[in-house]
Amino acid sequence: MSCKVVLAQGISVSYREELKNTIKTRNICPKLVGFLANEDPAAAKYAEWTAKTCAETGVEFELRKCSRNDLEDKIIEANQDAGVNGIMVYYPVFGDRQDQYLQNVVDVSKDVEGLHHKYVYNMYHNIRFLDEAKTKKCIIPCTPLGLVKVMEYVGVYNGILPHGNRLHGRVVTIINRSEIVGRPLAALLANDGAKVYSVDINGIQEFHRGVGLQLKKHEVSETTLTVEDVLPLSDVVITGVPSPSYKVPSHLIRDGAVCINFSTFKNFDGDEIKKKAAIYVPAVGKVTVAMLERNLVRLYDYQAQDRVSSTA
Ligand code: NAD
Repeated sequence: MSCKVVLAQGISVSYREELKNTIKTRNICPKLVGFLANEDPAAAKYAEWTAKTCAETGVEFELRKCSRNDLEDKIIEANQDAGVNGIMVYYPVFGDRQDQYLQNVVDVSKDVEGLHHKYVYNMYHNIRFLDEAKTKKCIIPCTPLGLVKVMEYVGVYNGILPHGNRLHGRVVTIINRSEIVGRPLAALLANDGAKVYSVDINGIQEFHRGVGLQLKKHEVSETTLTVEDVLPLSDVVITGVPSPSYKVPSHLIRDGAVCINFSTFKNFDGDEIKKKAAIYVPAVGKVTVAMLERNLVRLYDYQAQDRVSSTA
């Protein structure tokens, strides 16, 4: 079998080394505060893992536990504390629209997860900078950003094309259209030039910038296509189905495709997929955490820039 299995650990190394170096050589100590206001053991595990990774890279991480009814006030407190550079919340907290409200309570300047409406709007509208001078890049949510970095690492992005068009000609299927990962990812990849088939239980949508990338931002259309139609056309297949029983039908995967799974469950049959795929990435979690820290350092720098310009 000629399939190359690429592990997230290997992909995250260069980002983590770069972060470690930046923090050490500049002698800075960015501080991230994580709020845990639910009883979800998976969230607690993720928090533990964030703490460990941050300690290794030199980021100060503080986990603050509180009741969900106190969370809003606690976020506001952290927003106002100049010693806090980044804020994240382990969702779900209320599991409904109140979580969306809380995402917008986090100050834009400290939102390491890129979940504030301003970032979400800019991402969907392919607005890449916060300022006209283009000195501050927008924050992109960590898992979709991590998946972009995985695709860059394995060579799906074509480096001889200009930034912003490097997926021109690529066809990508994403099986998951959640608001947290699948839909933003489809938009990001389409904004970078790909034709994306976004699959969910209620059907398949196509995200694209048109022939010759004539559109500035992606547009979306409903299709009557099925998984049987789109998988054989796809250079890249990305899965995020949160179910242990779901498996992508390997026989539909194009010979030589790139297959990436971000679900906690193995959505590909490991043995079967290796007979078809050129590259298989079974998990991406470590890259996600590296992106969280990268976003934090970026926000740290923006805050320093803002302090300088407010005293000038
Ligand atoms: P979610 O439950 O919000 O969304 C899952 C989506 O998949 C839903 O839209 C659902 O309708 C769809 N879906 C379910 N079965 C499907 C099927 N058979 N075909 C097509 N679509 C189907 O979950 P989420 O937040 O998007 O997370 C999905 C998975 O990814 C989970 O396992 C989660 O733990 C994992 N995750 C991983 C990371 C990471 O960094 N590795 C980050 C976030 C989530």
